[in-house]
Amino acid sequence: MIKYATIIFPLPLNQKFTYSIPNRLLTKAKPGKRVLAPLGRFKVTMGVISSLEEITEYKKENIKELIDIIDECPSFDTTQLQFIEWISNYYMSSVGQVLKTAIPSGMNIVIKKYLKKNLSAPFDKNRFNDVQQKIIGLINNGKINEEDILKEFGKVKARREIEYLINNETIKVSYDIKDSYSPNYQKGILLSDDISIQKIIKELENKPKQQDIILKYIDLQKKSDTNNYVCPIPTILKNNISRSSINTLIKREVFVEKYIEISRHPNYSNPLNDINKLSLEQQKAFEAIVNNFEKKDVVLLQGITGSGKTEIYIKLISDLQDEEGQILFLVPEIALTTQLVTRLSSIFGNKLAVYTSRYNSNERMEVWNNVKNDEKKIIVGTRSSIFLPFKNLQLVIIDEEHDSSYKQYDPAPRYNARDASIYLSKLHQAKVLLGTATPSLETYYNCINDKYRIVELKNRFSNISLPKIETVDTSKQKPDSHTIFHPHTLSKINEELKKGNQIIVFQNRRGYTPIIQCETCSWYPKCKNCDVSLTYHQSLHKLVCHYCGSKNKIAEKCVDCKSTGLRNQGYGTERIMEELESEFEGTKILRMDHDTTRTKNSLKKIISDFESKKAQILVGTQMVSKGFDFGGVTLVVIPDFDMLYKIPDFRSREKCFQISTQVMGRSGRRNIQGTMILQTKNPDKQIIDSLENYSIKELYKEELCERKEFNYPPYSRIIKITTKGKNFKRLNSVTYDLYSSLKNLNDIQILGPEIPFISKIKNEFLINIWIKIPNHSLLNSTKKCLFKNIERFKYTFQKNYSKIVIDVDPIQ
Ligand code: ADP
Ligand code: ZN
Ligand code: ZN
Repeated sequence: MIKYATIIFPLPLNQKFTYSIPNRLLTKAKPGKRVLAPLGRFKVTMGVISSLEEITEYKKENIKELIDIIDECPSFDTTQLQFIEWISNYYMSSVGQVLKTAIPSGMNIVIKKYLKKNLSAPFDKNRFNDVQQKIIGLINNGKINEEDILKEFGKVKARREIEYLINNETIKVSYDIKDSYSPNYQKGILLSDDISIQKIIKELENKPKQQDIILKYIDLQKKSDTNNYVCPIPTILKNNISRSSINTLIKREVFVEKYIEISRHPNYSNPLNDINKLSLEQQKAFEAIVNNFEKKDVVLLQGITGSGKTEIYIKLISDLQDEEGQILFLVPEIALTTQLVTRLSSIFGNKLAVYTSRYNSNERMEVWNNVKNDEKKIIVGTRSSIFLPFKNLQLVIIDEEHDSSYKQYDPAPRYNARDASIYLSKLHQAKVLLGTATPSLETYYNCINDKYRIVELKNRFSNISLPKIETVDTSKQKPDSHTIFHPHTLSKINEELKKGNQIIVFQNRRGYTPIIQCETCSWYPKCKNCDVSLTYHQSLHKLVCHYCGSKNKIAEKCVDCKSTGLRNQGYGTERIMEELESEFEGTKILRMDHDTTRTKNSLKKIISDFESKKAQILVGTQMVSKGFDFGGVTLVVIPDFDMLYKIPDFRSREKCFQISTQVMGRSGRRNIQGTMILQTKNPDKQIIDSLENYSIKELYKEELCERKEFNYPPYSRIIKITTKGKNFKRLNSVTYDLYSSLKNLNDIQILGPEIPFISKIKNEFLINIWIKIPNHSLLNSTKKCLFKNIERFKYTFQKNYSKIVIDVDPIQ
């Protein structure tokens, strides 16, 4: 017989907890249900049942009882629980931390603890001390919130006395729980049951305003296709109708008032558009995908930018519509997908939902419920949407699969939504379509090894060739030169402006200048919390740290040698914008970066302004590279191409190729072939060649050779351990101890400890240890050993005010 429940709490705890189930709750207990359980001496916390047991290894006296089961139906199904467990194991993150990430905050509850007198217990005043008597007096004959007593007598004292009173059964405890999710209710009007419309219209002959309301209501009712239509008052008010006339009709009992639940999300109307007819090449690719799905679960659609991958996704989705299942459409960043969501909603209407961590807790909970009860079939979402309660997933589309936004850096679990969703699809027996113009090397490697299948689209839909590439040599530009753009670049921009075309300038740095340096002694202002230079932001007139966000006063002179000769080194989007504005007076220029897109609608406005040609030039960071389809752009400029591949990272060339292909892909998407200008001091011939001819094969082949030689992914798996601490000496010493213990792991390459390029962030020093696992089959056993080792060190680290962070398959 079931007697025990294993509980996961959504807290960063490394273990699960066993509780006994009181008889009254036995029939209600099911995995996936939320429960109320005591955790620690005084706390009561919400957790989730992960499994039920008949026996337990723990001693009876050490086991506590569950207090209550909150859910009627499980909040998580077994597939979700399995998925959470897998993420925890694979990414070496505590299961509680994964649950904390997976659970929508709307599912958290507010717990209030109440105290009541136990009326059946004999009450003998002499048995109680002063405080106890006062507590009993306060409770009197009602119930009282424990918080009030804690406030009155102080936490420590009050808790002790309350515990005593509970133990000798003088008082009883009860809990009040409240969901933090609240549906969005609005007042509406509903036509009374026994109303004859003809009659009432006639009666109101001299009251055109009231008549008007009834007619409008009937009109809206017809559109809504429901009999007992409740029309939200704000909706009817939109039709030039006054609130007082509505009130009169309510008084006359023509309408009754009623509350209805209104969605917090845009109501996509019924489908407006048909799907586009596919081109011959697209049709072939589509058929190839469908055929490949018969043999393999994962297919890569590798399509050149502008080849119309979206149309193929749409065709695939619409073909699956007649079936039962749900479709998850993963995108790297929701804010950048307005164009996509508009297109999808025009075709799939209300079957579509959008899910992103940018939503507030109620908005997210609503989508969660819609997915759970199968009302929504197509979910467009960012990485966190892999945790949604899918009933029956049949397809996952992962657009721009190479994009690093799929990886979560902080906090744990440091999961990659692309890889995790491939596992998720296995649990649902669903298919996965990866799409990109520039596959990650890992995905590409899986294709050439026939783990995945590859389907290619080699031409742009418009049949226009990819942009021409012009490299502009900036090696002769003086380092202190204040012009960012070479004269050739400027004349080319001017030419396009004259033709009425649009231009995108890409620089992956925000702010004005990344470094301000002393001409005499090379000193530069650094952040006091982090080991990085400060970036000058002209709009704020401050020096800003891009790691901790601290804002600092502008340095007037050098701190070391007191010289006033401080020079701007390099440039960010702000400075580019300034230079273009002075060069092309009267031209409207927009900037798209982290700083200009903070508010909810600012990004949408930039996109729509550029789309409707209210501006001619768009300057931006990597945001501008992501999937936009602006018809008017014929020129893209990368003023500092060298910066893209000079990053100290084994993936730097792959990343450089990916981002420049994406940027280039924004140009010449309609009728005219576009151009891309690369300003460079020292061109990487091979990358430029590959860009020009979209010849992925050669570049990837060479990259793979290099990765193999140095045993980098995809030929090995990497686990990165970062230790962090405020005291460098202590950190260094415990990190060395950890490192020495790991050296005994067999067959594994351990590199480090290494002080990273940026050695301090937010006042914490950092040290890295890299673990390279050569063989996939060793992955699990290595993780197990690693985990044991790290657990042994946790306490030592804690004592030394240091932490250990584990990142499996890191990308930085
Ligand atoms: P990708 O995502 O591969 O870069 P898109 O899906 O954005 O390309 O398509 C590029 C452009 O071509 C878009 O404006 C799109 O509407 C258009 N397009 C692609 N395929 C078709 C089609 N079959 N019919 C009509 N327009 C298409
Ligand atoms: Zn100086
Ligand atoms: Zn800082």
